[in-house]
Amino acid sequence: MEEEYAFKYCPVCGTKSLTDGKIDGLKCTSCNFDFFLNPKPASVGIIFNTRGEILLTQRDIEPFKGYWDFPSGFIKKGETAEEALRRELKEELDVEPLIRESFCSASDDYLYKGLLYTALDFAFICTFKGELRSQAEISDFSFFSKDNLPEKISPHHMQFIEKLLESKRLA
Ligand SMILES: [Zn+2]
Repeated sequence: MEEEYAFKYCPVCGTKSLTDGKIDGLKCTSCNFDFFLNPKPASVGIIFNTRGEILLTQRDIEPFKGYWDFPSGFIKKGETAEEALRRELKEELDVEPLIRESFCSASDDYLYKGLLYTALDFAFICTFKGELRSQAEISDFSFFSKDNLPEKISPHHMQFIEKLLESKRLA
């Protein structure tokens, strides 16, 4: 279910008056409220070790529990993409990332509790200070070369792996 269709009642006036708006979202025909439904921004950390392998973490939460993906997380209100990435890497792996460059951004579908969100991921190439330790939301982590990638990679991060392979960053 796309998020537009999950909302029936206007969050301002409470009437069942939401319709497809001309904006990116819904409009209330009763009180004229514009309900913006833009993508949810997230930060993604692409971390290489000295052998040129990438760090992937095994998800310990839904969606895609047990699958591997890059350390990442949704950006909170008031945070920059870089601040969110630093916070997430501290929370998940107890390290301080050194953000080297902005790699790319990508849109992906993110199904959570029966609602299909559109996420907008900002991926950064990083190194890090400290020793990696599994913390919140992940059950394991490991570095992978192009030839030994895990079988189960979260589909929402597969596009970053493909871009790394295409650009020969992951060789
Ligand atoms: Zn309304």
